[in-house]
Parts: sequence; structure tokens; C-alpha cells
Amino acid sequence: MKILVDLDGTLTHTNDIAFNEIKYGRNQTFQTSDIPVIEDAKNFIERLKALGHTVIIVSDSHHAYVNRLAKEVFCVDHLSLADKPNTSKLAEFLRKNFDFQEGSEKDYLLVGDSKLDIYLARALGIASVLLDFSALEEGNVRALYRARATRIKYGSTYYCRSYEEVVGVVENPTTQLLTLEHKSGEQTVRFLNERNKNGGLTMFRGLGRQNQGLCDAHGALKRYYAFQNQNRSEAFLQDISRDVSRYISELVSKNSKAHPWDYITCVADKTTTRPPRKMEAFLDALDVPTKKVNLFSWSDKVSGSIRQHKDTSSRYKFVDEFVSVTSDVDLKGKNVIVLDDQYTTGATADCLSAKLIDAGACSILFVALFYLADDVGPDVKCPRCGKDAKIKLRKSDGGRFYSCPPPEYGGSGCGWMKNL
Ligand SMILES: [Zn+2]
Repeated sequence: MKILVDLDGTLTHTNDIAFNEIKYGRNQTFQTSDIPVIEDAKNFIERLKALGHTVIIVSDSHHAYVNRLAKEVFCVDHLSLADKPNTSKLAEFLRKNFDFQEGSEKDYLLVGDSKLDIYLARALGIASVLLDFSALEEGNVRALYRARATRIKYGSTYYCRSYEEVVGVVENPTTQLLTLEHKSGEQTVRFLNERNKNGGLTMFRGLGRQNQGLCDAHGALKRYYAFQNQNRSEAFLQDISRDVSRYISELVSKNSKAHPWDYITCVADKTTTRPPRKMEAFLDALDVPTKKVNLFSWSDKVSGSIRQHKDTSSRYKFVDEFVSVTSDVDLKGKNVIVLDDQYTTGATADCLSAKLIDAGACSILFVALFYLADDVGPDVKCPRCGKDAKIKLRKSDGGRFYSCPPPEYGGSGCGWMKNL
């Protein structure tokens, strides 16, 4: 595999502006010993090479700096002034030196710490690791997880918190994929892990990316649309139920022996939800040892949908006002799994878990099948009006097309479209 590794923030502690003179090439007389290389970064690169992989540093910084770090410290090839997240320089470099072409994306992995790295990888169609060294130990847990959720939504294929975890991805790329992105995938993303007032844990998880725009081949957008489809087939429902059942029965149980789960439920369907009983039919189809119950219902007074509310607090208010815990199941001290199809702002997860905790529940595991990842545009301009084109996916057949979205579809473009 060719492993593209970002430099600043990924291998060196150089995101501070104090290093700009060196990174921009204005100070070319620096000593490499002046550069704070992250502890274990050299070992990390050596391990990747020892596993037989080619490592290439890909950096936006100046050649005079990147060249010396790559040669003198890490002994690897490099591309400087890469112009992330634009793909043209890196694509050309890889074509010229590594025979990069359509179909060879799967031989590549990009490791980086910033949005630009992940957007670049997604635009090239190659898998990516977001390396996030930020700690969660101190401060307001919810605020720290909110900030982490922003990074998760960059839409990287993998999310790692140490070099060790990146090596784990390189050694076992399929098992380290998300549960709904590969049959062997064992990973989920963690949007929250918090001790709640009843002494239990409140945990939010996401199982697959609802990617917008460009992405690597693992993105789960097609499955997301199939799940919402009016005519979703029984075969599709069985297929996705099998993956989620495997997650609940094997992976959740294995990792939470201290929390035998008493109940599993889903976010209630409204009478207007399409397909009808979207979540409840899915809950019925699951093959899990946990007892299935319906705990929530919508008020008769509800009008409109959560999608019409854009920000977190108005979404929270909407759910809080119109959804209630209506079951006569005694939740005191019980551990409950809640399933939802989509994690966007986290408002539904926040609100419903608070309602269950108020009803006496101990631990809550809120599982969203899909989470909304950032929209990564193509490096393509509309040929008619020159605005940035988007990549869209047709709900009817899953086909992808370029679009210059006009105002009626939330854009400011001219309506140009072209199939991919
Ligand atoms: Zn246009």
C-alpha cells in the first residue's frame, strides 16, 4: 500500500504560528533538531515501512522545510506545497511517480490531522485516517465531544487516536471499517461517552457515513438512501438487519459486559413517515437477544418535520415538545439501546436519552445507523455559469451526477446537470 502522511500536526508539533517562518520557507537555515517531532513519529514511519508499505509525506508547507524533514528525519519521499484539498498536484505527482490511475485508489491510504487532509482523500476517492490526538479527559465532556463530532463529520474512513491505532488499520483494514461499511467492519464512531445523573453511561454511536459529495468507495450513502426508499425491499431490510444484529449481539455485548442491556427500542415513526413503520419494521427484523419494546410516541399535535429545523436547539425543542416516553415499561435502573436512522446534529439523541434518564433508566446506548458527513465538492466548475459544481446522488437509482444546484434545490447555480 502507498501511505500518504501529512506532516504538520501529524508527525510534528508545528501547527503553532511560531513555526510559520520555517514552514513558509522564509527561514531556511533552521536545524531539524529545532522541529518538535511528535514522540514515536519516527518509529511509526519505520513500522509502516517494515510492514512493506511505501510512505510519502504530503504537505502544504514549503519545499525547503518538507524536503529536509522527509529526507533527514523520516527518510521517505515527499510532495510539498500540495495545495490541499485541491487534488490536481497530488494526483499528478502520484500518476507520475506511482502509476496512480482510476481503479488504483484502493491501494492508497491518507493519514492526516486536518479537514483539508480528509477532504483531499475523499476528493481523490482514497481511504483516509483522521488522526486525532486531542484528549477528552478534562473539562466539559459534552463540549469536548461536540468538538470531536465536528472532526468525525469530515467523513474520514477511519478515526484513530494514536499511531498504534493507525498501524492497526494498516494491518487489518477491513475489520477496522465501520460496521455498516463492510461485512467484517467492527468499528463505530463515538459521538458521546458520558456518565449520567443516574450513575450509568450515556453513549452515542454512528455505524456508517451518510457522505455527501465525493468519498472513498466505503461510504454508506447508497445504503442510507435504500433505507429511506419508499419501495425498500425485504431483502435489503434483512441485509442491513443482519449487520446491525451482528453489531448489537457480538460487538456491543463483547464491549459492555458491565451493562447487560435490558431493552432495545427505536425512535418512533410518525403516521406520515415514509416508508411506513420505517424504524419499527427495522426493529422487528433484528435478530438480537435484547427484549424489543416501543418506548416513544409522537404527539397528535405534531406538524412538520425535524428536517425543517436547521440548528441543534430548535431541533431539540421540536423533539422535546412532540415526543414522549409513553410506555408502561418500568425503566428504573434499566439499560436501554435506542436505534435511529440518522445522526445530524445529535439533538434527537440528546433529547431522547434525557427523557429516558428522567424516566429512571441507567445506561443508554443511542445507535444511529448513518451519520451526516460534510459535503466534499469535486474540483469541477459548472461549464455554463462557472460556479462550483456539486456531486449528487439520484434517489431513484443511486446514480451519481454533477449538479449546479439552482435556488429551488438550495443552491445559487443554474441547474446544469451531467451524469458521472
Ligand atoms: Zn451553473
